[in-house]
Amino acid sequence: MPAAIQGPKSVVSALVVAAGSGSRFGGGTPKQYRLLAGVPLIVRTLRILDACAAIDRMVLVVPAEDLSRLAASLLPGAGVVKPVVLAAGGASRQESVGNGLDHVADDVSLVAIHDAVRPLVSGACIAACVEEARRSGACTAALPAWDTLKRVEPDGSIRDTLPRDRVWLAQTPQVFRTDLIREAHAAARSSGWTGTDDAELVERIGARVRVVPGSRMNFKITTPDDLHLAEMLLSHAPASD
Ligand code: C5P
Repeated sequence: MPAAIQGPKSVVSALVVAAGSGSRFGGGTPKQYRLLAGVPLIVRTLRILDACAAIDRMVLVVPAEDLSRLAASLLPGAGVVKPVVLAAGGASRQESVGNGLDHVADDVSLVAIHDAVRPLVSGACIAACVEEARRSGACTAALPAWDTLKRVEPDGSIRDTLPRDRVWLAQTPQVFRTDLIREAHAAARSSGWTGTDDAELVERIGARVRVVPGSRMNFKITTPDDLHLAEMLLSHAPASD
């Protein structure tokens, strides 16, 4: 297990990935720029990280073609006070995280990777993940699988039912010791591995990743229905810690 990071001085950087094209959302404006209760998702997510005392600074990964527009308008108007470094994204989420890691400064001891399109994350969840990574080196927010799991054939028929005890659904934030996540991404690049999240890359190099209970509110905005659901939730009870 990686050594615990001691002392009050360790610097924590968020790494927010917002460089997707949103093809599953149905085209048009990429979902990270869509409005949720009048505020772009990306701005809402940055504000939550900005308000979270566990985070010191941020790297924001966006499509290369949006860099200058964001630097000139969206970011200055976002109301964020912590330092934000912009980085250009890649063709896949994994590449975007890798590019973001190249912009994480050397004095950063923990990196909190978060999807811009999870705008209902709570500050308490971010802080709990940072705390766990400070202790053990690597963790992800996650939820136990409560629904029954079915493996389904391409023709739509159920093949079998999978045991769900000990199955968790990974979310973000995923927080890692900086050297560990850099090593995991370097190994993935040199071996040609693709994972569906960053925790998987860390697992592949043999390190333990712990789960921290996430929240059902912290879902990923993937389709227009998700955006409607988030609007409804916000109109009834603003996300809080
Ligand atoms: O596509 P998906 O919903 O899994 O994306 C999760 C997050 O990763 C989003 O915030 C998206 O903007 C980001 N992403 C990225 N670069 C890509 C693809 C996705 O930063 N090439």
